[in-house]
Amino acid sequence: MMITQKPLGFDMSALEPVVSAETFNFHYGKHYATYVKNTNDLIAGTVMQDMDLMTLIRHCAGVPEYKSLFNNAAQVFNHEFFWNSLTDKADYKIIPQDLSEKIRRDFGSCEALEDALLQTAVKQFGSGWAWLISDNGVLKVVSTSNAEFPMGAGIKPLLCIDVWEHAYYLDYQNRRADFVKAVIGVLNWNFAWENYNKGE
Ligand code: MN
Repeated sequence: MMITQKPLGFDMSALEPVVSAETFNFHYGKHYATYVKNTNDLIAGTVMQDMDLMTLIRHCAGVPEYKSLFNNAAQVFNHEFFWNSLTDKADYKIIPQDLSEKIRRDFGSCEALEDALLQTAVKQFGSGWAWLISDNGVLKVVSTSNAEFPMGAGIKPLLCIDVWEHAYYLDYQNRRADFVKAVIGVLNWNFAWENYNKGE
């Protein structure tokens, strides 16, 4: 078994003008494809070639000789999570009632959560990711550097936003905040709620 590219779930032009088809052409077609290829090249002929993606990532996390493999495999996971965090479906852009109650409980309002996502994404120094997570049921916004993603007992990612420059430079150049504000408008809250309710 090798790691394969997962479909985007929408046409490359479906999120325009928030994310252009040109950006998806590079981001999905080149950057993500390269992480998949690098991962497969690094596991070929080893005991790791039969592992599923998450088993592979856990196997490599924190092991110095697997640093490059961890980075590539974690970026495969992060990108697939990001594609799923975006939607062109009007229904999925609406926060489900049950989730909005938890957002109000933990952030005060949905606007406050969106502001936390924006501030966290903008403040992440250099390449990385902004995340909405469930920490044992409590909603939190965090950022991670490079290929890292939120892991640990009781921690579940719900949504993520890629803030590597390759995610926005063609459309927004240096204006990361403008990219994040626009992306917040196409987040898939149905996916977030599914993740919240998922078992370990
Ligand atoms: Mn990316």
